[in-house]
Amino acid sequence: MLVFVLNAGSSSLKYQLINAKTAELKASGLVERIGIDGILKHEVGENKKLTFELPIPTHKEAIELVLRILTNDETKVIDSIKEIQAIGHRIVHGGEFFKESTIVTPDVIEKIEQLIPLAPLHNPANIMGIKICQELMPKIPNVAVFDTAFHQTMPKENFLYAVPYADYTEHHLRKYGFHGTSHYYVSNEMVKILNKKDSKIIVCHLGNGSSVCAVRDGKSISTSMGLTPLEGLIMGTRAGDIDAGVIPYLMEKKNLTSNQILDYLNKKSGILGVSGISSDLREVIKASKDGDIRSKITIEMLCNRIKKYLCSYAGLMGGVDAICFTAGIGENSDLIREKVCNGLEFMGIELDADKNKIREKGNREISKKSSRTKIYVIPTNEELVIAKDTYALTKTK
Ligand code: AMP
Repeated sequence: MLVFVLNAGSSSLKYQLINAKTAELKASGLVERIGIDGILKHEVGENKKLTFELPIPTHKEAIELVLRILTNDETKVIDSIKEIQAIGHRIVHGGEFFKESTIVTPDVIEKIEQLIPLAPLHNPANIMGIKICQELMPKIPNVAVFDTAFHQTMPKENFLYAVPYADYTEHHLRKYGFHGTSHYYVSNEMVKILNKKDSKIIVCHLGNGSSVCAVRDGKSISTSMGLTPLEGLIMGTRAGDIDAGVIPYLMEKKNLTSNQILDYLNKKSGILGVSGISSDLREVIKASKDGDIRSKITIEMLCNRIKKYLCSYAGLMGGVDAICFTAGIGENSDLIREKVCNGLEFMGIELDADKNKIREKGNREISKKSSRTKIYVIPTNEELVIAKDTYALTKTK
């Protein structure tokens, strides 16, 4: 059962061709700079990496190009696109409409369109991806998998903002949370490792975008991102939690419009804004080791914010069986994991400094034997979840 997984962004497109039954990854890639110039990085298996630089004016041409590469004589992994049995789309915002993945119908597209005000950058590109696939592969079913769906189990007391209640009922103002597919995958892996149903897990998805999620008995009960992916942790270029009073203050001081202040908090803040070095944490860690004070402060701020969420979620659940680190920073940075966990021994969280430094593929434990809370690194695999959901929804069709 071959599933084509597509994550369409405003000027980029990520894809994977996966056998959803065996989890075998046939090919994957990334098209960037669509409409600017165009670059496609395509991978087959572990070793074969191809890069194509050519004009890619539209998303349609990008998908056509990917399909040609998948089936072309020299690069092919399948003989014909007819071998693709379903297409799974990553959709950022499913609002309160979608509590799980769903087969795409005209009504589903309409609902995703209705949610554009909540995800103006992402949902339009996601819809475009669906429509192009319907046009290019009209016989192949499409499935929508939502970043917000996993968090639909959050109770009201954890998703409401403390503003007049009518803003929720009339304007859908609430926390939705994101990275749901990743939080689901990682917590589900952890549930299997713990081998107990009534589990209390905290997932730290730390990448360019970052969020923490409290998962009780396999269900999300609270998460750090909110109405939009701006809330919560300090991220590559996003400020995360901030006093709402900062917004009018900065607007006035810097003469900014509401769009400009959003751009400021989303794209110029976070690791980049504080360090002044880069949004890439590797560069900031390097600068900090070379003595750069602002980089040092950035790292302390980043880790303290994660720690605050860890402790508050442990409190919310009345304890924590396991903490999982995932995504670019969570999987690769022993320094950040160490700084986050250090000092939490009083809560039964004991990191094994040696295990933490070992770089290995796959799920791995990094806590001490004596630790009451298990600490794990679990590489995320959102595409596999999308492929599996797509397979489950389309296998009888
Ligand atoms: P992602 O969005 O999951 O691809 O994660 C991207 C982030 O992971 C970037 O900020 C990178 O700097 C960060 N990252 C990747 N490898 C490392 C590493 N070894 N140490 C620190 N940060 C890393």
